[in-house]
Amino acid sequence: MKSPNRLGESSNLEATDESCESSGDYSSHAEMQPSKGVSCEHSKNIGIKKTDRYSKGKTAVKNKKPVDSDIESTDLISSESSEDESSNWGVQTVNMCNDKRVWDKKDCCFFCGKLDFKIARHWSIWHKDELLVKKVENLPKLTKERTQKIAELRNKGNLKHNLNVWATGKGQIVPRKRPSYNENSSHYLPCEFCSGSFTRKWLSMHQKKCSKKHGREMQRRVQSAAKMMIPEVAAKQQISESLRIKVLSRMISDEISLEVKKDSDILIYGSRLLRNHPEEHQALLVSQKMRDMAKLVIAARERDSSITGIRQCIDNAKFDTVVASVRAVAGYSSQLESYEVPSYARNIGFEIDKVIAQLCSEALKSSDNSLADKVKSFKDIKLASWSHEVTNVAHHTLKKRKRNRPNLIPVAEDLKKLSNYLKSYGVLVKRHCGKDQ
Ligand SMILES: [Zn+2]
Ligand SMILES: [Zn+2]
Repeated sequence: MKSPNRLGESSNLEATDESCESSGDYSSHAEMQPSKGVSCEHSKNIGIKKTDRYSKGKTAVKNKKPVDSDIESTDLISSESSEDESSNWGVQTVNMCNDKRVWDKKDCCFFCGKLDFKIARHWSIWHKDELLVKKVENLPKLTKERTQKIAELRNKGNLKHNLNVWATGKGQIVPRKRPSYNENSSHYLPCEFCSGSFTRKWLSMHQKKCSKKHGREMQRRVQSAAKMMIPEVAAKQQISESLRIKVLSRMISDEISLEVKKDSDILIYGSRLLRNHPEEHQALLVSQKMRDMAKLVIAARERDSSITGIRQCIDNAKFDTVVASVRAVAGYSSQLESYEVPSYARNIGFEIDKVIAQLCSEALKSSDNSLADKVKSFKDIKLASWSHEVTNVAHHTLKKRKRNRPNLIPVAEDLKKLSNYLKSYGVLVKRHCGKDQ
């Protein structure tokens, strides 16, 4: 029997696992509200009331492990206890019993970091005063909107946990849908729209639907943007040694390189970019991208002295300054409606997107709501206005240049040289094979 109201409805793409939580009605479990002075022991009650399907699942678990810990396993499990499982760190996998899936997926609480089978009910019991929980509870039950809000908050909690796993290498990734076999956590990437974690292979397929669902445009470089959300594997986000050796030490000393070296966000951006593209020849590209960003900061500071780094540019109130600065760096002419350097205007938007992802990840990790709000509103305004403010003219300029570029055909002398070479090469090959004798 299918659970009547699923929590956290998501795309159909990942129909490999689903939560058995009964969605909209968690607030009606008044009998499960903890009484005053009650500790987490009360959560034992949580495991008692189940849907038929859930009971089935739990029976399966009992059959598998007939131990006293059956009730314990439905308790809230702290993230500390999950750290004990660090020996098998990877990804939460699906449990099977008699060839049937056991519905025991635990999600991570956005507020306290604890893992629970029924995360929505967990919020209603332990975090009912949180604004985000109130917003969910105020929505009518069994509605699409409520289910979506629950899914959003659940995914955010899981992403917060996953960012820690990626950063420390300890614990297990909580994926949107659990695989049937254990995988390396590095095979997973977060979706920038819904915050769910998916395998690299699935991410772009998922985002085709997810971006439409969120009314947003899908980026061309899906994995690249997703990787920028993941913190450094080192305990702290720091500038990597390879960035110093391969990029910073070789960068020409000028005003722009000084700007690069003093802006920690640009340095972290460069470190991540180099980590994702460690090939030797990519160092020059990384250097160029960092310099492009520094040029933007310098131009923005000329217009607004309160801007000290790229971080201050990611602000709703500074959007017009950012647009004006990009136009200035790219040499925009309002009379000709064209750019001197159109590729700069076209590409800098992608770099800004990566800084946005970087700051999003930071805000989520440190639970900095003001930074999260600031980044989100900048992202929204950029999405709505960037193409007509900046990139449309850039594309137009590039197309125009391509059209006007003379199509040079090879001269007769060069063709003669090539023909002679091919003939002599053919003779050599024949001799070598002994066919000319
Ligand atoms: Zn909690
Ligand atoms: Zn998504």
